[in-house]
Amino acid sequence: MRLLEHEGKSMLRSFGIPTPEECVVHSVEEAVAAAARLGFPVVVKAQVLTGGRGKAGGVKVVEDPSELPETAERILGMTIKGEVCKALLVAKSVDIASEMYAGITIDGQAGLPVLMFSLAGGMDIESVAATQPEKLLTMHLSSLKPLEVWQVMDFLRKAELPSPLLVEVAGILTRMARCFFEREAHVVEINPLVVTTAGAVMALDAKVVLDKDSLKRLGIAQTDGLPETELELRAAAIGVRYVALDGDIAVLGGGAGLGMATMDLVHYCGRKPACFIDCGGGITSKATAEAMRICLDTPGAKGVIFNAFGGGNNCETMALGVLEALRDRPGARVMVKMRGHSQDEGWALLRENGVPYVTDETSQVAMQRLINSIYGE
Ligand code: GDP
Ligand code: MN
Repeated sequence: MRLLEHEGKSMLRSFGIPTPEECVVHSVEEAVAAAARLGFPVVVKAQVLTGGRGKAGGVKVVEDPSELPETAERILGMTIKGEVCKALLVAKSVDIASEMYAGITIDGQAGLPVLMFSLAGGMDIESVAATQPEKLLTMHLSSLKPLEVWQVMDFLRKAELPSPLLVEVAGILTRMARCFFEREAHVVEINPLVVTTAGAVMALDAKVVLDKDSLKRLGIAQTDGLPETELELRAAAIGVRYVALDGDIAVLGGGAGLGMATMDLVHYCGRKPACFIDCGGGITSKATAEAMRICLDTPGAKGVIFNAFGGGNNCETMALGVLEALRDRPGARVMVKMRGHSQDEGWALLRENGVPYVTDETSQVAMQRLINSIYGE
């Protein structure tokens, strides 16, 4: 689970790593109030999970209070790499003397955590690693022995930092390592770690990725990928995932792969899916019925194409679910393709109740006809 910058920074602060004074806001009015309290200049930053916000215009230093409302409104309205900006970080702007890079992640090849540091911070660290690898210092860490400050000082020797700075940076890297291990993180990265013109060292940005599986034990609330809309919540309640799309035919797939293939087929027929639910792996008839209802309740959906394989699922159980949903949504346009476990029983139920279905895996033409019939063609 990736944290937003402000969540990552508050985690870093809890390990004693300095950051600028800052405040998270969700509206222009809150941004104006926060900036007035912090004092100008401030920096206004889009709180989205994707990186490269600076380049996309999602990070802006504001010197003049009269420019704040417009900047806050513009950034709050941004979509960066498909991600809608829902919150802003308003931080006291610092005068930057230099930008460094510091990161800890897992080196998959070595099977060990690795500490990385570079004086060439601020920019894309992948390109530094690719074009000037000598500028990126790296050291593997032991997950058994805590990292000591003297080890970090030794590691930083090649960076040739002046000594007061060396002590300061070594302290921050040591605390980052504590954060990485104690929070069982996959990534703890500070880019840029800056030296201010006043000589202070602080984290201006934070990328923290945690292990989803250890959140509960560590008492950390999950914030990423949680259901938000009513339909997502209803899907989560039956243990499936709902993906809203912008077409007009709902796709219920028995397994993600079959779902993707069905969406391809829908596109092949010149149509666009309105949503997608993966209901693979031992779904009950009650859950099938609710998944069908969620599909039918999707805004703009003219009907549902349900494509399932009876492997973990049972065709008779799924057919019962389809019939239950149709009792609640009479007249709904539904077409079913199911094969596998108890297929004859499933087909018999659908046939007796007049639900259009396809039996043969080579029946693309029949599927196409049924998809078109959802559109009344
Ligand atoms: P990213 O582009 O998503 O990585 O966002 P960052 O938080 O790293 O910000 C991008 C760049 O904006 C930094 O490398 C800095 O050069 C600049 N920046 C961020 N905060 C400040 C600030 O407080 N003052 C100044 N002058 N520049 C800042
Ligand atoms: Mn950054």
